[in-house]
Amino acid sequence: MATAVVIGGGVSGLASALYIQRSLPQFSKVILLEGSSQVGGWVNTTTYPDGAIFEHGPRSLRPVGEAGRNTLLLAEELGLTKHVLPIFPSDPAAKNRYLFVDGKLCALPTNAWSMFKKLPPFTKPLITSLWKEPFHRRSNEQDESIYSFVSRRLGPEFADIAIDALCRGIFAGDCRKLSVQACFPPLYEMEKKYGSLIAGAVFGFKDPKVEATGLVRRAIEDKWASWSLSRGLQQLTDAMAASIQNTKEGEIRLDTKVTSLKRNQNGKIIVSTPSDSIEASLVISAVYSKGKTKTALLIL
Ligand SMILES: Cc1cc2nc3c(=O)[nH]c(=O)nc-3n(C[C@H](O)[C@H](O)[C@H](O)COP(=O)(O)OP(=O)(O)OC[C@H]3O[C@@H](n4cnc5c(N)ncnc54)[C@H](O)[C@@H]3O)c2cc1C
Repeated sequence: MATAVVIGGGVSGLASALYIQRSLPQFSKVILLEGSSQVGGWVNTTTYPDGAIFEHGPRSLRPVGEAGRNTLLLAEELGLTKHVLPIFPSDPAAKNRYLFVDGKLCALPTNAWSMFKKLPPFTKPLITSLWKEPFHRRSNEQDESIYSFVSRRLGPEFADIAIDALCRGIFAGDCRKLSVQACFPPLYEMEKKYGSLIAGAVFGFKDPKVEATGLVRRAIEDKWASWSLSRGLQQLTDAMAASIQNTKEGEIRLDTKVTSLKRNQNGKIIVSTPSDSIEASLVISAVYSKGKTKTALLIL
């Protein structure tokens, strides 16, 4: 009997366990070990008695790109279609964006005209960064930080204020340490292919046409900006956990922190926790990696 162990019950660990269950039938047991008392990791919703929802992590997901489409497809497969809340580009939630700078809320430009105005916290109109962008040379570096990429192309002020905040919002990470190639592949490709972000946006960096059905089709046709779930995004991770546990092979152990991994003489991996140890043929670790800004996905 081959056992697979997934360490970490965040969205990466849950997705890995689901993948093993669905696509690797050689594993007759899939055990997910989560160190805390609940699954979901950063995806964590608090619902208050008056019905208000507070998202501790991400609050909406974008339906674009392969990963975006796959997540929507997954929500559909997990039976969440009726709970999906589309957010359209014209909705206030998609249109109105604010930055909190020096104790003040500053509205970001909402239309093309506002790019020509000097809007605090920026010291000059955003158009002044944009018009110069196509004239900056492309980099010869294989990769660089998001901060370095954006300050090279759009100026340090835009990188310091807008991109720093964006990366804290999306990745809960530091744009000076995150890789542009890993985090924003379309931007990286636009520069490589067209030498400019503006040229890339104008001349065709579009999502490839995909055969779509169901929710993905609705998202494309109705031009969703992003989507969420009626009871918060934790509904997605809870449904993933329920789907794993609904099969005889799947098991989730909470409050079970993995303390060590060792390979034995038979080539199997011994996964130890404070209470026992498991002999596994496959181990996927989806826990936070100390000293790195990204979660490590390690496959043994
Ligand atoms: C405010 C905020 C907004 C965000 N917005 C977006 C967004 O808009 N779009 C986007 O793509 N991303 C966004 N993110 C990032 C996204 O939430 C994370 O990248 C994602 O949730 C990471 O999931 P994960 O499973 O890889 O890691 P985690 O969620 O960190 O899960 C790791 C799990 O491993 C467990 N664990 C750790 N050590 C052990 C151990 N030794 N044994 C067992 N278990 C262990 C932890 O308890 C945890 O549950 C946002 C994050 C935050 C905080």
